[in-house]
Amino acid sequence: MRQTPLIACLISAVCAGAETPDLGQLERMAARFAPVDVRVDLSKLPTSEREALTKLVEAAKLMDALFLRQVSAQNESWLLDLVRDRSPLGEARLRYFLINKGPWSRLDHEPFLAGVGAKPPQANFYPAGATREQVEAWMNGLPGAEQEAAKGFFTTIRRDPDGTWRAVPYSLEYQGELQRASELLSEAAALTHQPTLRRFLESRAGAFLSNDYFESDVAWMELDASIEPTIGPYEVYEDEWFNFKAAFEAFIAVRDEEFSSRLAKFGAELQYLEDRLPIEARWRNPRLGALAPIRVVDVVIATGDGSRGVQTAAYNLPNDERVVAQKGSKRVMLKNHQEAKFERALVPISKVALPAADQPLVGFDAFFTHILMHELMHGLGPQAISVDGKQTTVRQMLKETNGPLEEAKADISGLWALQQLMDKGILDRRQEKAMYVTFLASAFRSLRFGLNEAHGKGMALQMNYLLDQGGFRASPDGSFVVDWAKIRQAVQDLTRDIMTIQATGDYAKAKETLDTMATIRPEVQRVIDRLADVPVDIAPRYVTAQELAPR
Ligand code: ZN
Repeated sequence: MRQTPLIACLISAVCAGAETPDLGQLERMAARFAPVDVRVDLSKLPTSEREALTKLVEAAKLMDALFLRQVSAQNESWLLDLVRDRSPLGEARLRYFLINKGPWSRLDHEPFLAGVGAKPPQANFYPAGATREQVEAWMNGLPGAEQEAAKGFFTTIRRDPDGTWRAVPYSLEYQGELQRASELLSEAAALTHQPTLRRFLESRAGAFLSNDYFESDVAWMELDASIEPTIGPYEVYEDEWFNFKAAFEAFIAVRDEEFSSRLAKFGAELQYLEDRLPIEARWRNPRLGALAPIRVVDVVIATGDGSRGVQTAAYNLPNDERVVAQKGSKRVMLKNHQEAKFERALVPISKVALPAADQPLVGFDAFFTHILMHELMHGLGPQAISVDGKQTTVRQMLKETNGPLEEAKADISGLWALQQLMDKGILDRRQEKAMYVTFLASAFRSLRFGLNEAHGKGMALQMNYLLDQGGFRASPDGSFVVDWAKIRQAVQDLTRDIMTIQATGDYAKAKETLDTMATIRPEVQRVIDRLADVPVDIAPRYVTAQELAPR
């Protein structure tokens, strides 16, 4: 699973009309994605690992071709036409096509090439011309093992010459590219000196040919190496009919040593933090269990489903429940993607939302440190709870309010936790002001994405609570400031209030809180309105990857 906020339609001319955008419109649509050169420092990698990495970059590029074909059977021929068109409009179309991996604008849910029609929700996973109902009925009519294969992650459904349907394994459907990808992974496995990396690469090379991904997913969970590759069919969002079929993607990355060690340092303080949560002592967990592994990496190249529209900031994998039951799942955080988003979106937002004197306090270190703490805080606070003597979970009790509240909890208690660690001397106190001011600026980034998504809704609740408690203040000139006399207490109170709702499983209170507090107030909306020209996201150019594997 991955974190990509829904974004409301931002260019009304495109959203409203059925017309194909002209050159000017297309350039404005593409300008929402700020071009960024992504470089990664590989100077610490020994030659063996750099050579292995080069093979992986080559394999990653194959995932792009596969994903294009999965999105639409016509994608490759449309792409060829665009490459041949050297007019300014043709070039603008090609650029936007590559950002979206097809002729449909993923931000606007509209086609931007004439004659392509609406984006097919079933992508290219099912027989052409079939309806959702027909496919569903056909699948449900199959006997056990066949039905499992038809509904599985790694098959397409195709029509035989005699008209009957059958499930075709990816290893057959995409044989050419997967054969080549398998060879490249085997070559990389032979080059690397890191045993857990070699085991993953060998097993994944085998999976591309056998169509059985289980063992390689397990090896991916056990991976502990300076290179962190994720490559293969993973997420199921592109199959909007059933979410059954996995799309090809790759994230070839290297471990970020600095933030990985900071993460380890925080990990050692979690029980200390749990013991001091601002809630009744009986709701604290005296013995926290093992945490799901988190990796902090810098992306050398992302391709396919991993690089379309809004760029991925972090992901949890694998999705195969059998692997999750046995090995859990792993969270991978893409530091340099986050850094590029910070530079291209958050810094410009801070220039609108904050007074000039506070703008220099906004920093990536504070931004990313809070994101790390946010992830860790998901593991703290009430989870398994007892309501009226019955054992249950926060998620079950709070139902649809759980997502926004849990995100708000991780945000605000993350801030609370960082303050605790500063007080304890674990974190540099000179970062204190940067921490709160950066949080304030980044609140506007989340709110801009709207309230139909858990992070945005959770942030609206936090913003309004902190405004009501006086921790944040709107100035007469429209900018927002932190009130240093009140912010600490306000953050602690909100942490207490949310965790108390969770500990008591109080659905009515949760709903009332969100209904009244998760709104965009006029003074906040006025800032958001002034962000129209700030890029929504980034369009990475993977410079280091190009240097490693120029073709
Ligand atoms: Zn979260």
